[in-house]
Amino acid sequence: MPRARAVAILTVCLGGWALSVGAAFAADGLDGASVTRTPAPAAVFPGPAPEERPAAARIELGRSVDGRPIVMELFGEGDEHVLVVGGIHGNEPTGVYVARRLARFLRDHPKEFDGRTIGVVPEANPDGLSRGTRANAHGVDLNRNFPSENWCRAASSGVSHGTHPASEPETQAILRAVKMVQPQRIVDVHSIPAGFHCNNYDGPAEPLARLMSRFNDYPVEADIGYPTPGALGSWAGVDCGIPSITLELPRGISGEDCWENNQDALLAFADADEAQPERVQLASEVTEPAHRVATAPPTAPLGAP
Ligand SMILES: [Zn+2]
Repeated sequence: MPRARAVAILTVCLGGWALSVGAAFAADGLDGASVTRTPAPAAVFPGPAPEERPAAARIELGRSVDGRPIVMELFGEGDEHVLVVGGIHGNEPTGVYVARRLARFLRDHPKEFDGRTIGVVPEANPDGLSRGTRANAHGVDLNRNFPSENWCRAASSGVSHGTHPASEPETQAILRAVKMVQPQRIVDVHSIPAGFHCNNYDGPAEPLARLMSRFNDYPVEADIGYPTPGALGSWAGVDCGIPSITLELPRGISGEDCWENNQDALLAFADADEAQPERVQLASEVTEPAHRVATAPPTAPLGAP
């Protein structure tokens, strides 16, 4: 990123952060409710008229246990490949909101993905989001279901990790997204009790985590503080060597405030010229072709559950 632009963005970000801290004190503590009650005003989305916007590809990666589509929006055709995932945990809707906001921003600001191919999967666990549960409709924690070397069966008292690695259709959908996009870096958006929010990294992603921290002012953490076998970061970051960030948003902050706090961090992540991690070619192949369902921007309202 050009230094002048970085400075400009940082200045804007610091201003936004100051505003958001004030807003945080007014938050109601229910990030899910905030998401649904905080429709973004149209004025926030300046840009060309809808018919002039570039067509963003929508790709159905698969279906959830209950048959809901899991969709990836794909922007640009550049050589830099980036994947953004939201909502692996259904009871963390702020991550869905922020991922949707990013997709909407990219639709309205096509220059932001010049030279980039950016895939955004805003709702990785649509059944969990609908039910307000961490797990999917099988009761499986999807972020313990990836085929990482450290995958293990859950303790009998815990939430299921699945019958075997990648047993769940939602996990398979995200794996398909990775295989399609071949990302050089991944950010997976979650939420955590305020005070523990951070840019958590797996694999060779510490420079990216520090880059994001310059914009969102979140701590950089190599360890979230508890084991995460079968996590997306464990598989993609540690096993595959794809620099991976788990962006842990603070709960109790509205989705809109989280977006404002993280917009520049996410755009810096997408730019990341200074990080330039090597592209990793996954050994495995896509076994099931994804179905390209449309070429028009999605019409679902931003604040929909
Ligand atoms: Zn989570």
